Amino acid sequence: MASLKYTPKQQLTEIHSRLSQTFREGRTLPLGYRRKQLLQVARLVQENSDAIMASLKADIGRHPFEATLPELRPIVSSALHAVENLDKWSSPEKPQVEAWRSGWDTTIFKVPKGTVVSISPWNFPWVLTILPLIGAIAAGCTCLIKPSEHAQASAALMAKLIPQYLDPDAYAVCLGAVEETTHVLSLKWDHIFYTGSTSVGRIIAEAAAKQLTPVTLELGGQSPVFVDGDSTNIEIAAKRILWGKQQNAGQVCVAPNHVFVQEQHQSALVEAFRKAYDSFWPMGPLDSSSEMARMVNARHYERNKSLLSRTKGKVVIGGQTGQDLRIEPAIVTGVKLDDPLMEEEIFGPILPIIPVANVDAAISHIQSGSTPLVIYVFTENEETKNKFVERTQSGQLILNETFAQVAVYEIPFGGQGQSGYGSYLGKYSFDAFTHQRGYINVPADARTEGFMQGRYPPYSAPALAFFSQALKAKIPDA
Ligand code: NAD
Repeated sequence: MASLKYTPKQQLTEIHSRLSQTFREGRTLPLGYRRKQLLQVARLVQENSDAIMASLKADIGRHPFEATLPELRPIVSSALHAVENLDKWSSPEKPQVEAWRSGWDTTIFKVPKGTVVSISPWNFPWVLTILPLIGAIAAGCTCLIKPSEHAQASAALMAKLIPQYLDPDAYAVCLGAVEETTHVLSLKWDHIFYTGSTSVGRIIAEAAAKQLTPVTLELGGQSPVFVDGDSTNIEIAAKRILWGKQQNAGQVCVAPNHVFVQEQHQSALVEAFRKAYDSFWPMGPLDSSSEMARMVNARHYERNKSLLSRTKGKVVIGGQTGQDLRIEPAIVTGVKLDDPLMEEEIFGPILPIIPVANVDAAISHIQSGSTPLVIYVFTENEETKNKFVERTQSGQLILNETFAQVAVYEIPFGGQGQSGYGSYLGKYSFDAFTHQRGYINVPADARTEGFMQGRYPPYSAPALAFFSQALKAKIPDA
């Protein structure tokens, strides 16, 4: 495994000054400059795809398929999408105004927030670091990226490639762990974009509050699934849930954490999982042919093993552990809400099934927990769909699919409540790093000034009567 050489603190302070200076000089403002840098991001991935895949293999044992689909492909397509849409996203907006202000120039300018930092986790080390960077570049910001020290090969490769492809005066990489990140957080940024755990999210928000820096927090949580056995195709549901769960060995912020199903459908669902399991891994998930990702380190491996040994539910499929930090996806039935499996986000390949009386019971359990990043619902029943739309809260609500929504950059990706705040992907990434600057230019001509005349002291009764008209306007019935 590559050994990371952490960036000295003094150098981080210098990088911060350099990025701030570049921003102040306005070098990242021209759209042509931004386009060129975005194209370089796409080129970086295309020209180094083998090396990037090797870094993912070294860090998490990722198969090229699971490296390409959720990491490399979205970076290239997001960079090109930003290039195509940059004119539209960055164009000033002219809002509709009240008739009496029609002579004023009223505009919303889309200005870059400034010099920003993005701190990212190990589980999808490339996409979760580079997609925020794409948003920052598109918005015209200068940006420091801080990949996770737990995905060393990826972080080392980023530190080597980013200066080769992007303008080093505007974009830089910080290598390091808690000490280096703490130093980075002590500097003054114009936006902090953080992806990672809820506990570190609190530390980030606190550090940002000291300088009143705006923050995006992309956190995790226990994303639940409801399988409506009365109306859904259970076999398709099982395949899609298991596919989403086994990605990256379950170390995914949007992984299905647990499944609610009506009691009478639990055994049919287990049989459907068994069928999907056998078709995904005819030789078993730990066979060398399966190339399932492994747990990132011994701590997460032991944590998941301990969960499997402590659960009061029944492990009905999988759950064996193997060489090289690998754990078979495990389906556990009859799990209760106070089970050890439900203490916190599982972040591993274990999938508990919680039998419930009906959809209302599932919704009530979801309502009583912290707000998840995503809720997955498998149903064809309109009333059930509507109940989830109207009575639950989450970052996203995904019907009849899991995991794939992270590639849908036409909708915002982000949490609510405990799962974070702010969002990104596509135009929302541009927005995350953009300040909407209100602007008016009021004509200093005689006609406008004549209209303004009544507001100046000494105040007069007729002028007050004129400005009080709104107080007498008829309020329509609801
Ligand atoms: P991690 O340990 O790699 O930490 C993330 C980043 O925070 C790293 O860059 C790390 O150096 C930094 N960090 C850690 N401790 C710090 C501290 N005390 N002060 C300052 N910085 C610190 O990753 P993780 O937190 O284990 O990531 C897993 C979590 O991230 C899960 O909860 C997962 O659900 C969540 N996640 C969320 C998303 C999302 O998009 N919402 C995506 C991926 C992961």
